[in-house]
This record gives sequence, structure tokens and C-alpha cells, in this order.
Amino acid sequence: MTPLLPPSVRVFVRDWLSANQIVLKDGDDVVAIDSGYGKHVPLTLALLASRQGVDGKPLTRLVNTHCHADHMGGNAAIKRAWGCPIAVPEGEAPLIEQWDTMTLLLDYAGQTAECFPVDEVVRANSTHVWGGLEWRALAAPGHAMGALVYYNPEHRILISGDALWENGYGIVMPPEMAPAALPAARTTLEMLAQLDIDVVIPGHGEPFRDVAPALERAFSRTAAFEQSSARIARHAAKALLVFTLLDRERMPLAEVPGYLDRVPVYRDLNARYFELAPAGFAEMLVGELERAGAVRRNGEFLKPA
Ligand SMILES: [Zn+2]
Repeated sequence: MTPLLPPSVRVFVRDWLSANQIVLKDGDDVVAIDSGYGKHVPLTLALLASRQGVDGKPLTRLVNTHCHADHMGGNAAIKRAWGCPIAVPEGEAPLIEQWDTMTLLLDYAGQTAECFPVDEVVRANSTHVWGGLEWRALAAPGHAMGALVYYNPEHRILISGDALWENGYGIVMPPEMAPAALPAARTTLEMLAQLDIDVVIPGHGEPFRDVAPALERAFSRTAAFEQSSARIARHAAKALLVFTLLDRERMPLAEVPGYLDRVPVYRDLNARYFELAPAGFAEMLVGELERAGAVRRNGEFLKPA
């Protein structure tokens, strides 16, 4: 059930491979937030062009919450289609300009995205009128250190990206690999807990109103992560593997150990926290994902559930 949002705020709820698109429109001012994953560009363009989207108007601006491939994978295509400026969080801009494939979790995590130009940066604590509403950009580091969330005080709407979902938030790397990430995620949740929020529009999943329980779940996940780096490492490896399976649609089971041994993020996580042979690491991740109902074996193949 989608909560009531002002008519100037439209949400295209996508999936776990492509982040949601949010369209903020008021007359000729039409701003889109986040662009989905590269594989889904045709659908993203069709949704944005639809009556619920720009509806024949030019797109004024594309803004990102952060620059992971599932949020900015359609940026280049949207730029080609509408020629609008692309605005990214100030802290993420250098990563895009240098095309830092490790921090952006691209080659490092077996993900792909088309490079795009950064035309503008959005600074933390700046205020913008997008689609006739005022949006305050707030720093939301953790999952991505340069991430921003966008808050509209009038309607108490939070566009949260991957900083807060109804059930959890985007992966964080364990402290030995990214010392600032988990403490930042906690600080971000504490900042969000201070906001007066009626509706959250998350990067993934339906918009939701039950903010307090969502924050409670996010805090307790954070507390569990703080107890165990290996737990964070397992969570990150599993979430990234599910993303890859959604991207590829299936992977031969026999190839999973080789894949985990080849793609640097899994190599690093395994070497640091598990020290398993590739086959054992694959068995651990696949077994846990199967028991959680996130993947299934189908003959020779592993598929997302
Ligand atoms: Zn993300």
C-alpha cells in the first residue's frame, strides 16, 4: 500500500537490481532522483517518459542519492535522452570523476555501469526547490560515505536512498576494510531519528510510513554488526552475490567457487574473515542464502528466488 504523497511526487518502485526512481514535478520543473541499473535502462527510460513521469516535458535535472551502480546505472542514458544536467552528492563526485571502480563497487564487486559526466554537485545542508517542493540535502554516510538523503519538511517526506529501508539498509563493509562505515551508519540513523518523518521513500521497496519500527530494526541490525565483523562480512558477501544473480539471472553452480575466487570483494572478504577454500566459501554463502529463501538451486544452476 503506497502512502499518500503530494501529486508532485511520483515514485516508480523498482526492484533490488534497480533502485526506485522518484519524479518531482511542478509545471516545467521535472527532477528525477536516481536512475536504476544499466541492464534495466530501457524500462527506466520508458517509466520516466510516461504520463506519470515527464509526460512530454523536458527533464530539468537528474539527481543521485549516491553513486552505486543500481542508482546511477541509467545516468548516461538519461543524459543522452534528455540532455539534462546530472547532480551528484559532493562527496561522491570525485569517485565518478576518477571512475573509482573499487569504491563505487564496480569491477571490485563484479558490477558494471556506464560512465557519465558530473555537471553539478549537491552539498550537505543545501536546500533545493525540485518539483515545486523544498528539499534539504542531509549527509547520510555509512553504506556510501558520500551519500545524501533528501528531506521535505513541509510534507515530512524523506528520500532515503540506501541509508534506511523498511527492513534494514544497504550493505556496509566491515571495520577492518572500511573503518568509518559502520560508525557512520549509526550516526546517520541517529540523525534520521531526530527528523519528523511522515513517509520514507526508500531506494528499494515501497514507500512506508512506519518509520519508528524501521529505525528500530536498523538500529538492532547495526548493534549486531557492531558485535561481529564476520557477520557484516557474511551479510555483505551474500547481498552482493544476490545482486550478481539478479543481474545474470542464473549462474552455473559449478562456477560459483571460481567466481568468488576471481571477483576481488569476495576474495578480500574470504581472506580476511573466513579463510575458506573457494568451494567451502561458496557452500557457506549459497547454503545460508538458500535457507533464507533468497536463492534456489535449479538443476545445474543457482538462481535468485
Ligand atoms: Zn547503494
